[in-house]
Amino acid sequence: MATMRAVQVPRAGGALELATRPIPEPAGGTVRIKVQACGICHSDALAKEGHWPGIAYPRVPGHEVAGVIDAVGAGVTAWQRGQRVGVGWHGGYCGQCVNCRRGDLFACVTGQVTGISFDGGYAEYMIAPSSAVAAMPQELSPIEAAPMMCAGITTFNALRNSGAQPGDVVAVLGLGGLGHLGVQYAAKMGFHTVGIARGKDKEPLARQLGATLYVDSQAQNPAEELQKLGGAKVILATATSGEAMAAAQGGLAINGTLMVIGAADALTVNPIVLLSGRRAVKGWYSGTAMDSQETLAFSARTGVRSMNEVYPLERAAEAYDRMMSGKARFRVVLTAGQ
Ligand SMILES: [Zn+2]
Ligand SMILES: [Zn+2]
Repeated sequence: MATMRAVQVPRAGGALELATRPIPEPAGGTVRIKVQACGICHSDALAKEGHWPGIAYPRVPGHEVAGVIDAVGAGVTAWQRGQRVGVGWHGGYCGQCVNCRRGDLFACVTGQVTGISFDGGYAEYMIAPSSAVAAMPQELSPIEAAPMMCAGITTFNALRNSGAQPGDVVAVLGLGGLGHLGVQYAAKMGFHTVGIARGKDKEPLARQLGATLYVDSQAQNPAEELQKLGGAKVILATATSGEAMAAAQGGLAINGTLMVIGAADALTVNPIVLLSGRRAVKGWYSGTAMDSQETLAFSARTGVRSMNEVYPLERAAEAYDRMMSGKARFRVVLTAGQ
């Protein structure tokens, strides 16, 4: 039987380990992907630590997958062998449940998550439901495309659904893995883009990524600085600090939205800020495979790219620790060396 290398979590809280596994066969409705690159996301900790209900171990994490379709299961007509594709957090939908029938495919009650509900991309091959697959354009290398499948889509899709129009002030709070993409997307979408982060040292990067203004939240009051511009139509909160979000909310314009995509523990909202200006706090789900496909296409056309540190698959444990340390600039990508 043909085998592959895969990096798996043996049990909740266990260490990542390199294993040899049979190359899986695609069942009906699924495709097999030869993985070329897989990004490491903070959410991979959910699989590793078992902080998600019902995970069957051993489990291969990874939901920032880029590769090539290698085999197609019965009944799949949308995809063919040899196509370049990506798979993200959204692990497909059933098309039958009430949420799917309303068109809210992202909220399919089957709740399939790549690298959590089924094995993900820390491997040489993986199986994905055909409804979880996005086309990857030729202009993007697998290493460039991989982080777009979670960090990219999360920021791109939130911004394009935020209600902001070209020319509106849009602030991106946080300049990490999500934020450094959010600033680029916001600038390419034509927003008056403001970067907010801690420390003066991040200003050159923010401007290089397309921000027309930078606010150092340690030295300046972000709410006051945004109000000097008339307020932000949208604040895209990519930071994982609820305090940082709370400190920025006063910078919203009337009818403005605090768009939360950073997984902070808690957020204190001032009701007076909300009701006096018809302001809103809203979250956004990353998106479906079609949203991923549009993220990839937009990135390829406009030159938006993630800054990545690249590790070979066999060094996944080290790469994972690097990502979780918060010191990576800015995403960490595993490559299967193909
Ligand atoms: Zn993710
Ligand atoms: Zn469904």
